[in-house]
Amino acid sequence: MNDRRRWRVRVLVLAGSTEGRRIAGELAGHPAGVEVITSLAGRTLTPRALPGLRRVGGFGGIDGLARWLSAEHITAVVDATHPFAASMPGNAAAACAATGIPRLRLRRPGWLPEAGDRWTVVSDLGAAATTLVATGARRVFLTTGRQELRPFTAVPRAWFLVRSIDPPDPLPLQRAQVILACGPFDLDGEEALMEAHRIDTLVTKDSGGDAAAPKLVAARRLGIPVVLVARPPAPPGPCVTTVDAALEWCEATFLAALAPPTPEPQAG
Ligand code: NAP
Repeated sequence: MNDRRRWRVRVLVLAGSTEGRRIAGELAGHPAGVEVITSLAGRTLTPRALPGLRRVGGFGGIDGLARWLSAEHITAVVDATHPFAASMPGNAAAACAATGIPRLRLRRPGWLPEAGDRWTVVSDLGAAATTLVATGARRVFLTTGRQELRPFTAVPRAWFLVRSIDPPDPLPLQRAQVILACGPFDLDGEEALMEAHRIDTLVTKDSGGDAAAPKLVAARRLGIPVVLVARPPAPPGPCVTTVDAALEWCEATFLAALAPPTPEPQAG
């Protein structure tokens, strides 16, 4: 992928979250001389710029990733995929175990309820749809992502305000309006949006983070119930919730062992 002799360590950052971009930036700027490869699944049509070398697309499951890690002489993997990434965390754990490469899961904390919140926590999107039917929800603000709409076809009596970064293609819901937007969102805007559309229920995944949290505060202020989809479990092995903690793991795992770079000989 690059002239790897220039680099003493090569780190694969599995990106797809804000934290992925941040840890890649921290490592790419590290004085020890770290080559960072940031990897994206390729779901977002126009992803934001990322530090380091960028690669896009899957590796071909656990075996494909294990082969790629060995061929590219990767020193360590930081799995900073989205908290709801379903396969990649397990694949990374298995491929790194098979190749003996250290791996860290970086996953920001989930949201915590506060006084006044009316949350129903459910295990998956199907259960979220079942809850909407059971509660008789009629005007639903759906923020689960453009590729996660199909389960809500089971709620024919509801109208949906669907918010996504890229357009759903196709849109499986008959009674829906789509708005395209990318966070961070602000509280006043979220409150105004929910009022303008007379929303009676918010559905969201427990993605965590500040950028998307204002919708939960707006729902609390407006007394709107929230159906919150719980996260998939993290794979076994080291897992941290902040970029600082991830950097500490990198220091302890491979950066501290590096001797300082040899200074260039002085001319003359
Ligand atoms: P997934 O189930 O974990 O991934 C499906 C497949 O996509 C993986 O098996 C892998 O293919 C490939 N892949 C995933 N992340 C990759 C990465 N960073 N670099 C290269 N290949 C990757 O994840 P998903 O839920 O479909 O999400 C896809 C991506 O979007 C993830 O990177 C995730 O971080 C991001 N994202 C997801 C959500 C969400 O709510 N699910 C929200 C925002 C962002 P191979 O098996 O061929 O290697």
